[in-house]
Amino acid sequence: MHQALGRITMYAGKRIPPYALDKPGERVLLHGNQAIARGFLEGGGQVASTYPGTPASEILETIADFAEMYDIYAEWAANEMVGFEVAAGAALCGARAMSSMKHIGVNWAMDPLMHLILRSPPGGFILVSGDDPSQHSSANEQDNRYIARIACIPCYEPSSPAEAKEMTAKLFEVSESIRLPVMLRPTTRVCHARSDVVLGPINRERRTGRVPADINFKNVSWNAPVLSHKHLHDKEAKTKEIAETVPWNWIEGDGSERLGVLGSGLSYNYAKEAINKLGLSGRVSLMKLATTYPVPDKMLTKFMSGLEKLLVVEELEPFVELYVRALAKEVNPKLSIYGKMDFNTKMIPREEELNTAIVANAVADFAGVPRITFPSAPEEVRAYVKGMLTPRGLDMCAGCPHRATGYALKTALRKLGIRDFIGVGDIGCYGMVGNPPLQLLDTELCMGASIGTSQGCARVAKGVPVFGIIGDSTFLHAGIPGLVSAIWNNNNVKFVICDNEATAMTGFQPHPGTGRTAMGRGTKVDIESVVRGVGVKFVEVIDPYDVSRSVDVFMKAIQFDGPACVISKRICASEAVRLARRAGKTLPPHKVHLEKCTGCRACINLFGCPALVYYKDENKVKIDNTLCIGCGVCGQICPYEAISPSEVA
Ligand code: SF4
Ligand code: SF4
Repeated sequence: MHQALGRITMYAGKRIPPYALDKPGERVLLHGNQAIARGFLEGGGQVASTYPGTPASEILETIADFAEMYDIYAEWAANEMVGFEVAAGAALCGARAMSSMKHIGVNWAMDPLMHLILRSPPGGFILVSGDDPSQHSSANEQDNRYIARIACIPCYEPSSPAEAKEMTAKLFEVSESIRLPVMLRPTTRVCHARSDVVLGPINRERRTGRVPADINFKNVSWNAPVLSHKHLHDKEAKTKEIAETVPWNWIEGDGSERLGVLGSGLSYNYAKEAINKLGLSGRVSLMKLATTYPVPDKMLTKFMSGLEKLLVVEELEPFVELYVRALAKEVNPKLSIYGKMDFNTKMIPREEELNTAIVANAVADFAGVPRITFPSAPEEVRAYVKGMLTPRGLDMCAGCPHRATGYALKTALRKLGIRDFIGVGDIGCYGMVGNPPLQLLDTELCMGASIGTSQGCARVAKGVPVFGIIGDSTFLHAGIPGLVSAIWNNNNVKFVICDNEATAMTGFQPHPGTGRTAMGRGTKVDIESVVRGVGVKFVEVIDPYDVSRSVDVFMKAIQFDGPACVISKRICASEAVRLARRAGKTLPPHKVHLEKCTGCRACINLFGCPALVYYKDENKVKIDNTLCIGCGVCGQICPYEAISPSEVA
C-alpha cells in the first residue's frame, strides 16, 4: 500500500490530504502546524504524544491523520508531561519521537526534560514549543527560549511554515548527532500562517529497540560520567558547530554597511520588509538567525565586526540581544546596540508580537530616516465592516452548559442568602463564568490550579464557601493530585467539575473521559469513579439543563461539612450542534411568546445567553434562531413562562 501512495491520492476510501502525499517535489499549501507534521513524516518520526494547546494543537492532529497510513504512533496524553515522557521513552529505545505543545505546556514537560538531557537518548527527539506572543489564546506570553537555555538544548526558530517543515525533518538528525532533545520554537503566526511548502521524500524507517548499553542502568549507574551534567556541557561545542552550518542562518549585505539589523525567527521577515520599504537595502545589512540557542558565534562575529550600530529584532524577551551584547564586548566593543535593553530608546517592545509597521518604525529611527506610513483600508470600507460587526465581549456559546452550571451555583448561593464567597477558576471555556452576569470567579492561575488554590483560599478566608471550578479535560490533566490533597487534609472546598465531554477550547480533541483517542477508540476513564475512588464523600452528578435539581444539589454541597464535588455533565453546545449536523439533524430553537413577555429581562440579566436579544422599541426579548440550540434553560428562568420549545403553542 505504501509503495502505491506516490501514484494514488486515496487511502482507506478517503482522499489523502496534501500534507500526507508521497509526491516529492509537489508544491502544496500548508499551515505551519501541518508543515511541522509533514516534517515529522519526512524526518522519519515514529512516535508523537502530547496534550492539545493552541497554537500547537494541529501538529498532533495532523500526524494522527496519517499515522496509520505510515505506521506511526500518535496519541493524546493526559497532559504534556505524560506526552513528553511517552515520546522520551520512544527516543530512549531508539525511535525518532516528538512532543509538540503550547509554550505553557512546556512548564509541565520541564521535569522530564531536565532529566532526559542527562540520559543521552539515541533516537532523535524534537520538543515543539508553540510560543504565543500577544497571548492570542494563552494565559501568559512566556518566552521558552529560556527553557532551551536552562536545559542546554538547541533552540531553532522557523520564520515560515516552509522553513518549519525543513527544520523538523532535519532536527531528528541534529538531535541524534548530539544525543539531546532539540527545541523547535514556532510562534503563533508561524503555526497558523499558510505558505507554499515543497514536499520532500518520506522517511519510512521504523525502528524497534531497547535502551542502549552505553546509557542502560543495567550497565552504568545513574551518576556515571556519560549521564553527567559535565557530559551535557561537553556537547555544547558540537551544538555550536552545527549552528554555524545549518542553512537557516545567513547574512545579507557585502560587509561594507555600518548599520546592521539582526532578526530572529519570524522577526527576520518583518525586518527584511521594513528595510525594503524604507529603501535601506545596501545601507543596512541583515542577519537572519534561526538558531537562537546556541548562537553561531563565528557568523555573528563576522556580521558584527564591521558595524557601528546594530538593531536586534526579536519577539518577547531580549534573549538574543543579551547574548549579542556579551559577545560584542569581545569582538566589537564600540558597537552601539539597540533593541529592548537600551533603556533610552527601547526601539523594540518587550511585550506582544511584532509586525512590519512596528519594526519599520524602529528601523527608521535606528537608521535616522523618516518613518513611513502603511496604507490601511479606505475609511468607507472600514466603516462598512464595522457596521457589520456586533460589539461583544468574551462569552460562552448559546446553550453552553457551563453557563447553566454557573447560573445554578449562583442561584443556590442566593437562595442560601450567601453573598460572600470565593470562586477559583481554571483553564477552559468555563473560566468565562467569571464574566457578567454570573461573576463567579475571584481568581485563576493555570491548568488544574483551581483545585489546589481554592484550598489555600479556604484556609485563610474562613467562614465563606470556596469553590474550585474546573473542566473535565483539565481535571484529568492536572486536577487529581489536588483533589487527593484536599481529601487527605480535609480541606473544606466545593469542587465543580464541568464535564462537557471535550477539550473544547483547543478544538474538541478527545480526553481520557471521552474514551476516544487520537487514532481511534481507547478505554474511557470515568470521572465520577475517580472522584469517589479518591475518597470524596459528597459526590453528585447533575445535568445543568435541569435547573431546579442543579440548584438543589449545589445547596446541599455548600451545606455539606467537608470537601464536596458536583460533576455537571452535559455535552458541549458546539459539539452537540456538530454531532447533530453530521447526523443530518438540527437542534430546534426555543421561542419567546411575545404576549407573555413583560420585558423584565431576567433571562438576559441573570443568565445572558447570547441568543436572547432585547428589542427596546417593543420592550420584548426575542430568540435568535441562528444561535439557539433549544437547551431550554432560559425557559426555566423566565418568571412569566414566556419561553418554550418552538413547536409548543
Ligand atoms: S433555549 Fe434559551 S438558553 Fe438555550 S440556547 Fe436557546 S435562547 Fe439560549
Ligand atoms: S425573562 Fe421572560 S418575560 Fe422577562 S424578558 Fe425574558 S422572556 Fe421576557
